[in-house]
Amino acid sequence: MKTEGSKGSETKTAEAARKATRRTREVEIKGIPVSPGVVIGAVFDTSEVPAETPRRSIGQGKVDGERQRLAAAVTASRKQVSKLKARIGVLPEEAQEELEPLLDAYAMMLGDSRLIRGARRRIGEELLSAETAVQDEAEAIAAAILAAKDDDKAGLKRRAGEVREIARRLTRNLTATPFRSLKDVPPGAILVAEELTPADAALLDPTRIAGVATEEGGADGHTAIMLRALGIPSAVACPGLTEAARRGDQAVLDGGAGTIVLRPGEAALEAGRGALAAYAKEKARLAKLRRLPAETQDGELVELQANLEIPAELPLIAQAGAQGIGLLRTEFLFMNREDLPDEDAHVDAYTPVVEAMAGDCVTIRVLDWGGEKDMEALAEGIGPFHAGPNPALGLRGIRMLLKRPELLEAQFAAILRVAAAADHHGTQIRILLPLVTIPDEVRQAREIYERVQRRMRRKGIALPEKPPLLGAMIETPGAALAADAIALEADFFAIGTNDLAMYTLAVDRAEAEVSHLYDPLHPAVLRLVQFATEAALRLRMQVSVCGEMAGNPRLVPLLLGLGIRTLSMNASAIPRVKQMVRSLKIDDCARFARRVMEQGDPQRIQELVMNFGESGSDRS
Ligand code: PEP
Ligand code: MG
Repeated sequence: MKTEGSKGSETKTAEAARKATRRTREVEIKGIPVSPGVVIGAVFDTSEVPAETPRRSIGQGKVDGERQRLAAAVTASRKQVSKLKARIGVLPEEAQEELEPLLDAYAMMLGDSRLIRGARRRIGEELLSAETAVQDEAEAIAAAILAAKDDDKAGLKRRAGEVREIARRLTRNLTATPFRSLKDVPPGAILVAEELTPADAALLDPTRIAGVATEEGGADGHTAIMLRALGIPSAVACPGLTEAARRGDQAVLDGGAGTIVLRPGEAALEAGRGALAAYAKEKARLAKLRRLPAETQDGELVELQANLEIPAELPLIAQAGAQGIGLLRTEFLFMNREDLPDEDAHVDAYTPVVEAMAGDCVTIRVLDWGGEKDMEALAEGIGPFHAGPNPALGLRGIRMLLKRPELLEAQFAAILRVAAAADHHGTQIRILLPLVTIPDEVRQAREIYERVQRRMRRKGIALPEKPPLLGAMIETPGAALAADAIALEADFFAIGTNDLAMYTLAVDRAEAEVSHLYDPLHPAVLRLVQFATEAALRLRMQVSVCGEMAGNPRLVPLLLGLGIRTLSMNASAIPRVKQMVRSLKIDDCARFARRVMEQGDPQRIQELVMNFGESGSDRS
């Protein structure tokens, strides 16, 4: 008969063996494709990176505030852990067996645990900041666990590690610190993270980071947009990734397929090498299209512009053969800094872009903060603004700017100065207002715009011959349905299908859990695009699509068929979109769009779009 002790040690041995197998086994994880390209490289796992937390004491008056911050971080952490738990169902059974108790332990520690009680007490008694209190309490608990009299030293170490892991999660949530240590990523590595914020993505160096895979995220979130813009092969929403990946593991990442194979065997490696070669060949072929016009078979010219997120992309934009910039997102100027950019900082940021695009159009969108671009990552000094219970429906975009007109004034003044300097090389500069929902927002913004011009004139500052046009983003159902009224106030429209789909379908664009419902081809979204486009065309007003839809070659026939002639997209998508434009006839597109718009079922629309040209009736 076996004794308890021998049974226990047998279980432990089996457990250790299982763990070892899992860490050496090949694992393929399917996520959402975000940015094409194939990479074979070593994993750099950022989840091991602690957030930066200098020790901080507080005054007595700050105790309540710090305790509230702690409570908010606990709630956020609990939410993350329960999300993780909901998603482990797709992992192999033995991995689930191992993970489930761990996540339960995490959830318990985020309840009424010694860690949380102790941290709360330290805030009040020792007058410590929430993050310092969390770290001190976690260290005290870990030290007590490690000092316990137990033969199972490995078990003690594991439990102490779990406490520290929860403390790290709380600290990350408390500090909202982007992974600044990304600068330590070795060249050619595949960055693996639970989640990457747009602010983290802005810090990535595409010459060092060969690929990115994350556990969270959606296809059209800002992080995904940044990754595409940087041309970094990436997949998001990869379930169980951070648990399965170990730093230094070899991996094959296919950003076009949205898959990552950890510790690939010979066959998977061979397949990866094949995909890598095929991708390189395709890229070389597309590069040849650079100098050819984006013209349909029947001679209709289509304007293909680039969206720009961060200045690092400028060389990519030039290489892609973009005809100007249809959307210069200016949020990058406000990220990862302590202070607010002043007028000169704006001028310095826009000037190289405008000069590089000499002779083409540059559309500068004024600050669009809020929503998933969380307020905490925004430069200090912009607040106090609270994201509110539902940030996407709160003080976002133009709403925030009209509450803080000095931000808008600085941006307008800088754009006017840059436009005046651009007069001599003929770059047409335009200004775009984000998240407009009522005509009055455009009116109010224009009043501020004109006030800035009058002030500059009084001060003798040179103004451009013609002031840049003032356009409105159409990116909510309300704006789309009121597009005819907004068109009377705005000089042009840019249809932002990313937010339009999110607000129409009530699906967060960056939320992995509901990403299967995020569908720009839903008939409701398409009808809104059609309505807004027609409102603009009736007034002969410029209208473009600048959401991620515009960069998907398969959607080009439909968008052209709806009357769109300007598409703005991440630069790397331009060659494929151009290839598609050059294969089309406008009449075929119009007929195809009519057919699509008769459909009510998103699934059917998806089929029609995927099979465009195959039925024979699409192309004459
Ligand atoms: C959009 O919403 O489609 C858009 C282009 O704006 P952003 O993605 O920056 O919100
Ligand atoms: Mg938007």
